[in-house]
Amino acid sequence: MTHPFLDLPPLSAARFASIEDRVARLLGTEQDVVIMQGEALLPLEGAIRSTAGPGTVALNVITGPYGQTFGNWLRDCGAEVIDLAVPFHTAVTAEQIREAFAARPEIDFVSLVHAEAATGNTNPVAEIGEVVRAHGALFYLDAVASIGAEPVLPDAWGVDLCVIGAQKAMGGPAGVSAVSVSARAWARMASNPGAPRRSYLSLLDWKDRWTDAGRKALPHAPAQLEMLALEACVERIEAAGLDTVMRRHAAAATATRAGALALGGGLEPYVHDATEAAPVATTLRTPPGVLASDLVTSALTATPTLPLAAGSGPLAKEMIRVNHYGTDATPNAVRDSLTALGTALSEQGVRVDLEGARAAADGAWR
Ligand SMILES: *Cc1c(COP(=O)(O)O)cnc(C)c1O
Repeated sequence: MTHPFLDLPPLSAARFASIEDRVARLLGTEQDVVIMQGEALLPLEGAIRSTAGPGTVALNVITGPYGQTFGNWLRDCGAEVIDLAVPFHTAVTAEQIREAFAARPEIDFVSLVHAEAATGNTNPVAEIGEVVRAHGALFYLDAVASIGAEPVLPDAWGVDLCVIGAQKAMGGPAGVSAVSVSARAWARMASNPGAPRRSYLSLLDWKDRWTDAGRKALPHAPAQLEMLALEACVERIEAAGLDTVMRRHAAAATATRAGALALGGGLEPYVHDATEAAPVATTLRTPPGVLASDLVTSALTATPTLPLAAGSGPLAKEMIRVNHYGTDATPNAVRDSLTALGTALSEQGVRVDLEGARAAADGAWR
């Protein structure tokens, strides 16, 4: 008996290359796109270790937990790191980036997270890209939580290393990921003696053995199931239209925000300014005296399938994440999440307006 997951014909190099090309089209990029055989942390770490080293002066923008991780990798590579941290309830501005360059003109690397699912903010990459390009620094972007939820345009924005994963707004698998690499970034890697080679983290290995070799033979057995799932999810996005998928995420964010405000009871959007709130996920702040992790636990006890989570680490006290992405970017997921949170709040004696919240969410969905 054949098994649908197990007894598959080998994934051909041509099929692998065609999946790469489809991902490149999704990013609207002419740059090389390398699909990495692991979760997005693989290209995120690989791209930093490939391009940074002693002598690198890196501006590391921290708008959530991933920025902290990138700073640690950069330091580990021997780079000098200038951390620019902004409060999690807001976004970084192009002006702040301009000021950082004015203070330290020798900055030659900028790392930025586009949208943070963990904190719910999104950063103005187009404007920041102009500043980074004007100073000639290499621009590294984590677009895992933005791809599929809002425009990601590495070529137009001057992004040299743009990392994506399929597990958020693309509604795809978590086990493979991709990075677009500019000619400048390849040159930086080639001249970096510390760039990983013959390593799972290596981008240069893929360039030498796959991209530059004409993509005729795969260097290793590919993560076949994950590659097929990536292909299927890109196909599904193409069929619906990327714009439609992005609009659904934007609508889910707008509806969640409007619904939370109408719910009352002290539940508030965590990101103050709606224009700085990420379309991929909406974070909410619990009222004083209400533990976010308790509220999420009781909401999920009633409805275990809802896309709700408490913030991680210390944020678990005060932050709720409504992860309305992928198949959860729907009016029902938003309405049901608000209903469950409102019900859990009222069980704690907080007065809420469930009907008002649902009506506001439905009305705001557009
Ligand atoms: C989700 C996410 C990732 C990938 O991390 P996982 O926790 O493994 O899903 C990377 N960067 C950002 C900004 C993310 O939101």
